[in-house]
Amino acid sequence: MTAPVKGPALDRFRLLAAALVVCIHTGPLESFSEAGDFWLCRIFARIAVPFFLMVSGHFLDREGWKSTGRFWKKSLLIYMAAVLLYLPLNLRNGGYGPLEWGKRLLLDGTLYHLWYFPAVLLGLWVVRGLLKLGRPAALAAASGLYLLGLGGDSYFGLTSRFSGLGAFYSGVFTLFDYTRNGLFYVPLFLLLGANGKQWSRRTARTGFVLSLTAMTAEGFALRSLGWPRHDSMYLTLPLCMVFLFSLLLERNQGTDRQARRLSVLVYLLHPWFIALVWAGGRFAVPLAENSLVRFAAVLAASFAAALVLDKLRPLSVSPQTRAWREIDLNALRHNAQALRTMLPKGCELMAVLKADAYGHGAIRSARCLQRAGTRAFAVACLQEGIALRKSGIRGTILILGYTPPEAVPILRRWRLTQAVADEAHGHALADMGKPVRVHIALDTGMHRLGVPAEDTAALEQLYGRRELRIGGVFSHLCASDDLAMDDYTSAQLSRFYSSLNILRQNGFDPGKAHVQASYGLLNLPPQPCAYVRAGIILYGVRSDSSPSRQWPELHPALSLRARVACVRTLRPGERAGYGLEFQAERETRLAVLTIGYADGLPRELARRGGRVLLHGQSCPMVGRMCMDQLFADVTELPEVCQGDIATIIGRDGRAEITAEEIAERCGTITNELLSRLGSRAPYVSIR
Ligand SMILES: *Cc1c(COP(=O)(O)O)cnc(C)c1O
Repeated sequence: MTAPVKGPALDRFRLLAAALVVCIHTGPLESFSEAGDFWLCRIFARIAVPFFLMVSGHFLDREGWKSTGRFWKKSLLIYMAAVLLYLPLNLRNGGYGPLEWGKRLLLDGTLYHLWYFPAVLLGLWVVRGLLKLGRPAALAAASGLYLLGLGGDSYFGLTSRFSGLGAFYSGVFTLFDYTRNGLFYVPLFLLLGANGKQWSRRTARTGFVLSLTAMTAEGFALRSLGWPRHDSMYLTLPLCMVFLFSLLLERNQGTDRQARRLSVLVYLLHPWFIALVWAGGRFAVPLAENSLVRFAAVLAASFAAALVLDKLRPLSVSPQTRAWREIDLNALRHNAQALRTMLPKGCELMAVLKADAYGHGAIRSARCLQRAGTRAFAVACLQEGIALRKSGIRGTILILGYTPPEAVPILRRWRLTQAVADEAHGHALADMGKPVRVHIALDTGMHRLGVPAEDTAALEQLYGRRELRIGGVFSHLCASDDLAMDDYTSAQLSRFYSSLNILRQNGFDPGKAHVQASYGLLNLPPQPCAYVRAGIILYGVRSDSSPSRQWPELHPALSLRARVACVRTLRPGERAGYGLEFQAERETRLAVLTIGYADGLPRELARRGGRVLLHGQSCPMVGRMCMDQLFADVTELPEVCQGDIATIIGRDGRAEITAEEIAERCGTITNELLSRLGSRAPYVSIR
């Protein structure tokens, strides 16, 4: 058997499914054959809506149902748009009061043609609940619901003979005439799509033909018995769908977003065109008497309008065109939580977000951490602090670096807390004459910023200034990452605590104390402090490979990716790149990647054994790195082609390149590597 040609089969089939929905509502064969029309609209076209549900289930499941909330909200928005869109039609047909309206909107769909939306909103809730039982049980329960629904649908004539059942179904019908589908019908198809079972092609094809034949027989038999109250559900329909979906899955590769958008638009718009074509028919357009013409007119108008609207859509550039950073917010949240469990009681996490959160995007990181309960943040400078406040970050924001005293009004305006760099800085801030929030920096041995810890007289002077609202006092350890320098770190700690003790003895409240940064947390026993200022490890990364006393389970939050711009083959002896640094020893396939040193990669990396991941495999960088591009040798990977996504930092399948590896190759630390990633590589958040 030859392999089928692959393409975005699932997305393309949406167009056909949308056309089938138009069929159901227009009856194209009505003028020609009553039975033919019945088969087309009431039997065959019944595959359309289950298909839409199955693709939704399929895609939601592929992401572990994580985007269910987003999908739900999107469906709700589309539904609300539909409500507005059909307000004029409903008003014209209208004549019901506000209560009836409310019931219709919630339970029936704004127009019965559009029952899909409220049904899917309800069905997603049901599925979320059912999935808690585990997949087989969920599927069994959904099948049960379907059977129950069947009794009020195509098999109503049978069930209504039993008085209890009859009463049950009439109750259901009066309560929610159309959305009952959300309960009885939607869950099964969402779950069948999620399961996405793939049969062999022959089985799937035979299965589809047989089950469609069976469904045809079932449909006509039920009709002659006069049982259906409505006929969107058949016993054989799920079977039919499973085989059809398997056939489509086998051919499916990639996505066709336009087909997705068009199918939704056609679905949304077609009832309007039905109304318009029918109205046109009344004004004696004779052709509109013919059902096929009417169908064709509605279909063509719906598709044309959908195409026009789709063209009018504002175009947005995906960040994933060239080189980009993926920020895994789950990892960030997880890391914050893991670090918190290491803190003694009364000690809080202060998230260090300087340098755009070490290249992770300060605003998105801060928002994520704030939502996860972080109440204290640290930045390097005024601008970084203001940016966080503007994006809605509350709580303490401590500026770790120097800020000129003239900025006191700005510090006050944004409720920022300033570190006091030394005695003179403290007095200059106070001399501005207005209360300003500060933390006093103590120099315990790094000799960078801070009032010398032993100069308690100077400290007491500062604590005596009314304008300084001293909320805390801190010091920075300069060798806590080096276990061989433990003695120096201990000396720093004892200077820190003895200063605090002297202050207390002399009647001053030193405020909230903090002394540990990432490596202080990893290498020291818990400290009697109010904060730990965690930077690099919050992002799930070590500074370098030097050992630490402990390493909680942390996850790297950043991945760096780029595209393959082109692939070319070099004959043995041919050279490539600036300075012709690379020379092919054998026939070599070179991939040119869309990332270079202007994106923050160290230029040295290519010559120091740097590598990238493609198709889950490692490929060496070769030649000289350019400003915007670099070369990778993909001779061993014939499948690499233009447009492929390469991983520079992060995971691809089982393979991984860590920031630590790159930093080490280039003789630096990850703090430098990550914070230097260029602003040209945009961020993409992953949840
Ligand atoms: C940068 C910085 C930190 C955070 O350091 P990490 O080692 O990344 O945790 C903490 N405190 C001060 C004063 C800093 O400058």
